[in-house]
Amino acid sequence: MFTTSVVGSFSRPKFLIDAFDGHSKGAVTDEQLEEAIQDAIKLTVKEEEICGLDVITDGEQRRASFVSFVGQKVKGFKLVHVTELNRDALEIMKKEKAQLTYWRAVAVERIQDSLLALDELKFTKHITSKPVKVTLPSPYLVMWEAWHAERSKEIYPHPEDMAKDYSKVLREEILRLKDAGASFIQLDEPMLGDLVEATEGKPDRYRRVIELIHGQKYRGFKEELNVAKELINDSIKGISGVRIGMHMDRWPNKDSPFFGVGYERLLPDVLDIKVKQFVLEYASEGSGDPAKFAESLNDRELGLGVVRVMDKTVEEPDVIVKRAERVAKFLDPEQIWLNPDCGFAPGMYRSFPRRIAFSKLASMVAAAKKMRDKYS
Ligand SMILES: [Zn+2]
Repeated sequence: MFTTSVVGSFSRPKFLIDAFDGHSKGAVTDEQLEEAIQDAIKLTVKEEEICGLDVITDGEQRRASFVSFVGQKVKGFKLVHVTELNRDALEIMKKEKAQLTYWRAVAVERIQDSLLALDELKFTKHITSKPVKVTLPSPYLVMWEAWHAERSKEIYPHPEDMAKDYSKVLREEILRLKDAGASFIQLDEPMLGDLVEATEGKPDRYRRVIELIHGQKYRGFKEELNVAKELINDSIKGISGVRIGMHMDRWPNKDSPFFGVGYERLLPDVLDIKVKQFVLEYASEGSGDPAKFAESLNDRELGLGVVRVMDKTVEEPDVIVKRAERVAKFLDPEQIWLNPDCGFAPGMYRSFPRRIAFSKLASMVAAAKKMRDKYS
């Protein structure tokens, strides 16, 4: 009941960021960087254990960002700085109030099967006996993030074809992770979450920015949902024996007419995506009422965001209990998982104090205990 977990990333300790920076300048060797990464993962895993979380991650310490790391790992993608894609990229992001990661994985050759996160899982399993969640960039996200009208067009004239090839790689990787003992595989799909703020005729602010920087065109609300559904289902169809979830967030914007509206906007189509668990941002202001989504879930699970990742106030357990109870009427306690809204540091340079992140998680675990006492 009320299983506790995290969405994925944690802020990197300063020594790790220094090691990455030093490595890019040639002052830190591969071996020294690897040691810093392993130390950072051990530290993160230990802190998650101390907090008392049920299902843990490695904090994505090895990744430059939750999505652009496909450029570090998968053959066919290349990491390109956003200003190389569009000279005005930084101004565009500022104007539209939609921040993309600066280092972008762009498809420049045919995408080939590659290991994405198997090394991460093996290392984490080696240092903990807790169940481990592995996060992977979802194919619909990658379609929007990694296709570029000029750079990708010779190999992939259409973004959908690139995403289909990536989806095949993802499927192979999910099978490998399952065989290696992953407990939970989470597909990260913030682009689908952002669709909450789009209409049939007008894209949300993230798609607008990517239209301007990458040259991809918005397909309309219904068709975007269709494309997402097909790509994600292709990568997971027929796979059993491991829990598969999908994470959506959108970091609500006060200027949007959809501030205060939740993922119920994506119903009922989003339920055609055959994941067991929906891991959703619902603690942040403006993210809407989770009951409106939970009441349609039937036998699926909800990974409910009950801790804010944008604000540094550590929530009291009773505040978290109140957030969790918003869905208690619609779901069994076994279907409700508790997690923060998002990773604490989806990109390497996003700084969120580690000790505050871990205090928030400890508070969440205390809240779960209260809920278990109450509902058992
Ligand atoms: Zn997120």
